Amino acid sequence: MGFTVKNEISLVGVGIHSGQPVTLLIRPAQSGGIRFVAQGVTIPLGLRYIVPQNLGTNLVREGVLIKTIEHLCAILWYLQLTDLILEVTGGEIPIMDGSGVLLYEAFKKGGRVATKTQRKILTVREPVHIFHKDIFLIALPAKTLQVNYTINFPQNPLKSQNIVFKRKRDFLSTIVSARTFGNVEDVNKLHASGRALGATVENVLAYNSTEYVNEPRFDDEAVRHKVLDLLGDLYASGYDVRAKLIAYKTSHTFNNKSIRKLVRLFGARSS
Ligand SMILES: [Zn+2]
Repeated sequence: MGFTVKNEISLVGVGIHSGQPVTLLIRPAQSGGIRFVAQGVTIPLGLRYIVPQNLGTNLVREGVLIKTIEHLCAILWYLQLTDLILEVTGGEIPIMDGSGVLLYEAFKKGGRVATKTQRKILTVREPVHIFHKDIFLIALPAKTLQVNYTINFPQNPLKSQNIVFKRKRDFLSTIVSARTFGNVEDVNKLHASGRALGATVENVLAYNSTEYVNEPRFDDEAVRHKVLDLLGDLYASGYDVRAKLIAYKTSHTFNNKSIRKLVRLFGARSS
């Protein structure tokens, strides 16, 4: 069984990349899967149209680009949403406060109803590892999705952080409100090159080489956000993944490479 929203939900915000106003209109659908619509082009959610970049996960079809879908997709995963029409203007999902919490609250207000759509489950049946330089992801068989995530940035205030996310019901208390993070000097460089123009201390946990610039919501907010990103990147594949994942410093590009491998190995035998 899948789900859609009961009522339309309208969100207005800025795009973290463009810095321009963007809108997202979420409309119910009884069937047909999750579809994004922008500039008259419909883009179904799934690996076929995903183009990851290090700064975010994007959808592209016929030259139409929809950026930064990962936090939204994490909420879709949590709520088991399978059928929706998502109308986007401005080419990006609103960044909101940089976490998933405001998106989640909007969905909660909209309500949820069941559809007849069967969720596509991807079950990892044997251990798999994917690595690139010092980045890695190990997938082990498990009945539910569990994530053991580590980051290690000894040269800045993030230092080493680890979180074990084992139970879906902990998503709201531990993961959803963790914000995107960034080094202010990197953000300034990105701004100078016309990127991340919407990134501000209102939507990014910011730090310099020695300390946080704004107040973290959790001591380990950054690693919590990495889990949010990974959950979103997994669900963006169109599959609800069942596995225990051990992840180290993965990027959106690497997450995408990993889920492609898992789908290649286990997708056909999953339902
Ligand atoms: Zn993120």
